[in-house]
Amino acid sequence: MKYVIGIDDHDSYKFGCTTHFSVILTSYLYKNHSTILLDLPYLVRLNPNIPWKTRGNASIKLIVEFNGTKKELADIIFSYSIEYVKDVSLALEHGRKPGIAIMEYDKYITLFDKLYDFYIKGISDIIPIDYAKKFAEKNDIELRGDRGIIGSIAGLGMSGDYTYELITYRKKENWLKKRMINKDSVKRVDESTFPLTFANYDYINDTPLITPHGTDPILYGIRGASIQHLIKAMELIESNEDIDFFAIFKTNQSTDIHFQKIGNRFYQETKKVVQVKNVRILEGGDVIVETTDNDILFVYKETGELNSAAKLLKKGDEIVAYGAVKPSIAYGKIIELERFEILKLYDLELVNPKCPRCGGSTNSLGKNKGYRCKKCKYIINTTNKSTKNIMRNLSLGMYQTRSYRHLTKPIFLELENNKPSFYEERKFLEMYRSTLYKLDYHL
Ligand SMILES: [Zn+2]
Repeated sequence: MKYVIGIDDHDSYKFGCTTHFSVILTSYLYKNHSTILLDLPYLVRLNPNIPWKTRGNASIKLIVEFNGTKKELADIIFSYSIEYVKDVSLALEHGRKPGIAIMEYDKYITLFDKLYDFYIKGISDIIPIDYAKKFAEKNDIELRGDRGIIGSIAGLGMSGDYTYELITYRKKENWLKKRMINKDSVKRVDESTFPLTFANYDYINDTPLITPHGTDPILYGIRGASIQHLIKAMELIESNEDIDFFAIFKTNQSTDIHFQKIGNRFYQETKKVVQVKNVRILEGGDVIVETTDNDILFVYKETGELNSAAKLLKKGDEIVAYGAVKPSIAYGKIIELERFEILKLYDLELVNPKCPRCGGSTNSLGKNKGYRCKKCKYIINTTNKSTKNIMRNLSLGMYQTRSYRHLTKPIFLELENNKPSFYEERKFLEMYRSTLYKLDYHL
């Protein structure tokens, strides 16, 4: 019998990781319950703006063949979950509330539209746990656990554009050690596999982007659009420790799915055409753009190119603002920008009129008092300013944050022309299953 499984909230701020759990779980299910993985695992990023999110805010979706009922499967998985969060991630001590959700595959197909709606809600909104429980009851979804059930149900509905992430995991004895990745090897990955792998290296801060910084079990993660190139990248990366195992996930990362449903409430993504009223650069480098609709757009220094471009915006410019609605003590409501598209640049500047007698430049004699030529001293009785075309160091088009956000699609990535290869996936899945069988992990 085919089942779809959602898993969430197995990591803690210190140890463990829901993706890590999902890999050893599939190995455990395979070896002990002949449960076969029917598709690559899915890494599903959810609402990036929820303040109390787990690290990275991701859940996992698995599609498997299991010989038994969904209740039996739920019990087997959840007892393994409890062992993991007790022994590996210490998640319970750190306030995590793991959860799982399981559905029969046939039901999943029949109810897919509803699941997809729940998934989009999980990306763009905050879902209360009672709502999730009612949804599960109505739709025959078997639940175990606590708050993690929300992300687990949301994960079930992931569909649409996807990219891949290859994640390598460290041996447990290395979790507390500093990761040592050869920087040049990461640059070589970039040179030989970009753009089919991306977000590997930050050349401005001269640092790899593939490694997390905490004590979780991930050595590094490589994002990309081709399985073959991800494997090549892994072969190129040099580190001073052996990896324990690795997995490739299908993921909604880098697909812009968070802009599919926009809103104007706190923690929702928003997208709107606005006209710039005023630009202020704060001490420290953050930029505040006020719009004619009185929106306050925040462009943090950390956004790099986006912040630099925001500094050059002027009154009258028209942009499409993309960002997250956040509460602010000083302003009530702000929009944290992750991207803007310039539609119109205002390129006229008001200047003092030229002298009609000699063509010289003029000084103002005070508000509404006219102008006097600097050269021949002729006085012009006008209150009107002239306009002059000015050079703008911006061009029309898209500007995007440099700091990495999981769901944000890189400007260069063309998902439409880069459909992942079905054949490549099947081939890799077969290979991956055999590594799962060999994996010898003891909680
Ligand atoms: Zn003059």
